[in-house]
Amino acid sequence: AATIPQLLTGERTAYSFEFFPPKDDASEAVLWESIRRIEQVRPAFVSVTYGAGGSTRDRTVRVTGRIARETTLTPMAHLTCVGSSVSELRQIVGEFSAVGIRNVLALRGDPAGGLGQPWTPHPEGLDHADELVTLVRSLGSFTVGVAAFPDKHPESGTLEDDAEVLVRKADAGAEFAVTQMVTDVDTYLRLRDLVAARGSDLPIVPALMPVTRYGQLQRMTELNGQPLAEEVLRRIEAVKDDPAEVRREGIRIATEHGRRLIAEGAPGLHFITMNRSTATLEVFARLQD
Ligand code: FAD
Repeated sequence: AATIPQLLTGERTAYSFEFFPPKDDASEAVLWESIRRIEQVRPAFVSVTYGAGGSTRDRTVRVTGRIARETTLTPMAHLTCVGSSVSELRQIVGEFSAVGIRNVLALRGDPAGGLGQPWTPHPEGLDHADELVTLVRSLGSFTVGVAAFPDKHPESGTLEDDAEVLVRKADAGAEFAVTQMVTDVDTYLRLRDLVAARGSDLPIVPALMPVTRYGQLQRMTELNGQPLAEEVLRRIEAVKDDPAEVRREGIRIATEHGRRLIAEGAPGLHFITMNRSTATLEVFARLQD
């Protein structure tokens, strides 16, 4: 089968879908219903996020391993440096390998105290994602991806600095990047062009997430510390009293963004699903027209 970097440099747009590890049996059932529906559209890969802390960590390994074992999908596990020594990170990567995971998204993670708090590495751990890329690559034949920030990472000085960091991650062995949620296509293009101008051909996959509920807007900004594009805010605000119309508008916006990203040559589109499939599959279907 083709590797993720091969699919991202191929002729066709490579679609991928992101899940988070469910907390209980009921949410796990919802997730699996989504996974089975998404499996039918044959995405390039699906990914499972990673939280610091023992039980969340185990759930990432378990869910990603189950995808590897029981489906035809290509899974990718996210991994962060937060709260782990290098020997613990090695052990987790060993667990990935044991359950058949070959693709890892290597991240630093957010400061344990939350966004806006200073980052302090584990005393025997790693300070930046590029070091985790090097570590994972040294532990076996893994394909490694990294994070990219079109709206600029909150701790970075400028977008140029972020472009430098991406080149450094590619030099460390990362073969592709996935962005935070894109709500303004121009920000994606700017970062992509800055990276290309540095002579790097690292494929950078933009992430999309259709807004389906008005209440999500506030939460999205809180969670990511990321500004939502004015235009998206304005269009959703305009229909906020009509939940069905919020959903329709959210799907329209994500579809428009997806079309433009594809037209601009984005190597793929990464859908943040929140473990649901209906809205993202609707956007996916419209993009095939
Ligand atoms: P880094 O690349 O280490 O960057 C962090 C900061 O340090 C940036 O300001 C960067 O400019 C700077 N920097 C980087 N390298 C160096 C260096 N060598 N020297 C000096 N400065 C440097 N978080 C989770 O907890 N779990 C997840 O599953 C998860 N999935 C994500 C998926 C995607 C697609 C994205 C975009 C983010 C995800 N995150 C996740 C959030 C991510 O962990 C945070 O945004 C984190 O703050 C940055 O991670 P990073 O890997 O980009 O870190």
